[in-house]
Order: sequence, then C-alpha cells, then structure tokens
Amino acid sequence: MKEIKQNEFDQVVLKGGKVAVDFYSSECPPCEALAPKFENLAELYGEEVKFVKIFRQENRELAASLDVNGSPTVIFFDNGKLVGEKLTGGIKRSDLIKNLNAMIPDEKVKEITQNIKPTVSEYDTLILGGGPGGLTAGLYLCQARVNSVLVDTMLPGGQIATTHKISNYPGFIEPQPGFMLAHYMSEQTKICGAKYKVAVDVTKVDLENKIVVVDEYETLKAKKIILATGASPRYLNVPGEKEYKGNGISYCATCDAKYFHDKEVIVIGGGNTAIEEAEFISKFASKITIIHQFDKLQANMEAQEKAFANPKIHFIFDSEPRAFEKNGNKMFVTIEHVKTGEKNTLESDGVFVFVGMKPNTELFSDHLTLDDWGYVKTNEDMQTNIDGVYAVGDLRSKKYRQITTAVADGTIAAIAVTRELDN
Ligand SMILES: Cc1cc2nc3c(=O)[nH]c(=O)nc-3n(C[C@H](O)[C@H](O)[C@H](O)COP(=O)(O)OP(=O)(O)OC[C@H]3O[C@@H](n4cnc5c(N)ncnc54)[C@H](O)[C@@H]3O)c2cc1C
Repeated sequence: MKEIKQNEFDQVVLKGGKVAVDFYSSECPPCEALAPKFENLAELYGEEVKFVKIFRQENRELAASLDVNGSPTVIFFDNGKLVGEKLTGGIKRSDLIKNLNAMIPDEKVKEITQNIKPTVSEYDTLILGGGPGGLTAGLYLCQARVNSVLVDTMLPGGQIATTHKISNYPGFIEPQPGFMLAHYMSEQTKICGAKYKVAVDVTKVDLENKIVVVDEYETLKAKKIILATGASPRYLNVPGEKEYKGNGISYCATCDAKYFHDKEVIVIGGGNTAIEEAEFISKFASKITIIHQFDKLQANMEAQEKAFANPKIHFIFDSEPRAFEKNGNKMFVTIEHVKTGEKNTLESDGVFVFVGMKPNTELFSDHLTLDDWGYVKTNEDMQTNIDGVYAVGDLRSKKYRQITTAVADGTIAAIAVTRELDN
C-alpha cells in the first residue's frame, strides 16, 4: 500500500493499471473503521490491484476534481478510467471486495478467496449494536476493565445519528444535533478503550455458544453477549412502497427533508415521530399533508399543539394509504377513508412514512423469549432467557423507548455483566 500526494496521482493512479484509492481525513471515525479493512485487502489483492491512500485535507484540489467531497471515499481505476462504485461513509469489507472482484479475472478471485484465513478472537463481552444502549454498556464495561468488543453493521450512533436535534438528553442546555450526540457517545466509549468492529456484515449469531461471525471469516467469541441492535422503521407493505423506497418515499426526515425546499410532501403516521418530523420538514417544504389512520393524533400534546399551529401542516384523518405510484418527479398516493371506503389519489413531490418501529432481531430471535410484538423479554438486570445473554435499549420489551432509557438499560446490563464475570 502506498500513500501519495496529488502531484503523484497521474503517475501512480492514472498510469498505474488497476488501482483502489482511499481518500481519508484525520479525526474521522469512519476512516479509522475503514483503515484495517483496506490494509487487509491490500495484502490479499496486492498482486492484482494497487492500493493507494491520499490524505484528503492536504490534497483538496485533486479530491474536488474527482468529486470526492467526504471522507472516507474509495474509488477504483482501471487503466486511468474510473470503474465500479464510489464508496463513502461506513464502507463495508463486502462492498470493497465486490468492486475489487469486478476488476480481476474469476480464477484470480477464486485464488484470493482460498487465501483468506479465518480468524478467531476472544473477549469477555461482545456488544451487538452501537446505539446509545450498546455504547453505554461498552463505556461501563471498559471502565470496569472488562475486555469488550462492540459490533455494528453500520457506524456507531444508532437512531440518534440520523435524528436532527435532541433536546431531552440531560447535560446539554442547547438542543444537540443527533449526529453530534452520537459522535460524543461513540468517541467516549472508544477513547476509553473498547474495541470496535463497525460497518461489518454480521453473518452468524449463535447466542447459546456466544459466537458472532463478522464479514464471513472473523469469528468473535465471548463469555457474555449484550444485544443492543435497536429498532428500524416499519414498512406499510403497500403496492409501490418497495419500488419507490429511497426514490420518492423516505423514512428519514433528517436525511431527506432538505430535498423538498418549497415542495409539497405527504407524511404518513400520527405518532410522535410523524408529528415531530413533519414539524422539521416544514422548515423546507411549502405544504405538508399528514395522513393518519385514526380520527386523532397519537403524538404527545406539545407536539400536537405545535403541528396544529403550523400553517404549512394539513391533516387527513381516518385514512390509510393503499398504493404509491410515480410519474416523472411526482408521487401519487391513493388513500382510502377507513369508515366510508371512499378512495382518493393525492399528488405530492415526496412521501415520508413514520408508522412505528420494529425490533432488529432477525439474526437471533430463534431461541429468545419475545413479547407479542417481537421485542426481547428480560428481567430487571436485562438478562434474557438465554444464560449470559442480555438485551438493552429499543429491542427490549418495555414501555418507553428513549435515549435515556436505552442508556439506563446499557448501564444496568454492564454492571450486571461485570458482577457476574467477577464472580
Ligand atoms: C426520528 C427519531 C427521533 C428520535 N428522537 C428522540 C429524542 O429526541 N429523544 C430521545 O430520547 N429519543 C429519541 N428517539 C428514540 C431514540 O433514538 C432511541 O430510543 C434510541 O436510539 C435507542 O437506542 P438503542 O441503542 O436501543 O438502539 P438504536 O439507536 O436503534 O441503535 C441500534 C444499533 O444497532 C445496530 N444494528 C442493527 N442490527 C444489527 C445487527 N444485526 N448486528 C450488529 N448491529 C446491528 C444499528 O446499526 C444501530 O447502530 C428518536 C428516534 C427516531 C427514529
């Protein structure tokens, strides 16, 4: 692997045959997460593909000329031509491999795959999921000198990383951007010394034997496992939803509201998230129509009062979406009045869906005791029915799901685990 400056780019990259280039920055957690993966793949693919690193902050002109606007960004060249995907953010090993494999003959891919040596590492505790619950557990375990590893399929932070402002997390007088709070929590736990395996593919979870396999070849064994995989948005499962997900239909206002400046959008849902996010979207959009299945909103009174007082927000009650269609840039939502059966089609520039969450338990729900909604049952020490397995945060069966309650769960589980290990 070679580190180069922009004046070497022509020679080393454009005239260099097959090249993978990593634009990185300092003080960049996703760059740190990528570095060992890039290094490891350089060892495996080094005879076929050249691996190059460029420090983006000192080579800005080159980065800008290649439309590289964030760190890390990995791009691929073959004989001076850009090939494959531009990878950014929490870059997974599997995405790097997919692009590298596309650059070389199949028989070489086979050869390289045979050379991958599986690894096994052992820890006292493995935390699956790096949202507020998992990060807090990691912090307490680290401060108690428990050898822990935190595994996340994305970058740490969880749901708060994509929440625009958090005003109810104690200790901050001003509302905090969600990604900053996520950053503070993640850095505090990392600086303490917890090991991170983030932006990985989790390919196997065996709770009975306390084994988790990441990126197919890396086996992590532990004495205890803390499940902290949180929750994800629920889908409506209405025709057209899958087709237009990310292309007309969004589940994240923080991520997408900015694209609707002076546009009209439809928000589906009537709970806290729907109403708070509609309020946020109203900073950009000119009109928001909230479609709600009941005759009243479910959000808290404060959020409701704000929404009713917002002249940009309009409401259609007792109605459910039945189909999504798209024509050009316009979305068409067919809604049905649940009492009269009357159908109507509404036109908008975009749709946001906020109809609740579901626990992320797909990989390991088999032997766990769950409640009727699929959330993991625990005792008050956060212990599940499987010995040595704990569950914290939003995936746990409980009444209130907030950052503070996830953080509290993480604290309790970590203290309980530490005591058990000490005994
Ligand atoms: C739009 C929105 C606004 C919100 N606003 C607030 C607010 O203002 N105040 C408040 O207190 N709460 C708020 N919440 C709720 C709060 O974000 C959650 O209660 C909290 O994040 C739960 O933390 P957690 O650690 O349980 O899970 P999460 O935050 O969901 O984190 C789970 C982590 O696990 C990872 N993961 C998932 N599956 C796997 C897997 N198989 N293997 C490994 N890792 C995995 C995910 O990538 C993620 O990083 C909001 C939520 C949303 C969606």
